[in-house]
Amino acid sequence: MEKKYRYEEMMPAEFLKSVERMPVFIVPTGLLEWHGDHLPLGLDALKAHAICLKIAEKLGGGIVLPPNYYGRPGYSRYAGTLTFSEALMNLLFTELCDQLRKVGAQVIALITGHYGPCQVNFLKNFAYNYMTEYPGVTLIAKPEYEGVTINGEVPADHAGKWETSMFMYLHSELTHMENYRLDTPIRKIYDNPPNDWYKEEALWTWKDDLTKSASIELGKQCVDAITNSISTEILTALNQKEGGQ
Ligand SMILES: [Zn+2]
Repeated sequence: MEKKYRYEEMMPAEFLKSVERMPVFIVPTGLLEWHGDHLPLGLDALKAHAICLKIAEKLGGGIVLPPNYYGRPGYSRYAGTLTFSEALMNLLFTELCDQLRKVGAQVIALITGHYGPCQVNFLKNFAYNYMTEYPGVTLIAKPEYEGVTINGEVPADHAGKWETSMFMYLHSELTHMENYRLDTPIRKIYDNPPNDWYKEEALWTWKDDLTKSASIELGKQCVDAITNSISTEILTALNQKEGGQ
């Protein structure tokens, strides 16, 4: 029978057995955020969720949470983007990690598919502070691309060739290259976002022509490298816990 890794689809007995076998929880996190005309607003969390499932498959264990769409800015003023304050995000992640410790987590991997300094710095600071308070649990907190290179490049961008390629591979049915155009995409600029925001450019320009630079093959290469890197890091953290306790 195919193994189950999705928290929300597990029966209580499966859940308990899985935690006992491998007390690892993998949390995909993102944002509802503008990603050009060819990609959906939920891309970051959907991408992270699909990658987290591949990490669990590679590990042969661990429990993957449903995608979280609440995060820090963000192209806050572009069409459809919703962003949240640091205070709210701290509370959300603190209570989530408290709950995961309650159900037996020893390693929690917070994997963000939404990048940028607001989100990445928040997540890393949160993890550092949480582990200082609760040294019994190991938190891994990082953007997917961290520690990975593809042909000498870090596979990180916003709606560019890396994200587009990964999404083509993970969710081809939600990728609409027929909507992509090299000139200015639909953005809309909202006034006065309610919380602090990343000072995004008012004008958007593409670094390259995605119809030429993005591909399913490149996406698979990125996703495989990310999956290998993060699953190795989780196993190392788990072994250190088992060896040290
Ligand atoms: Zn993104």
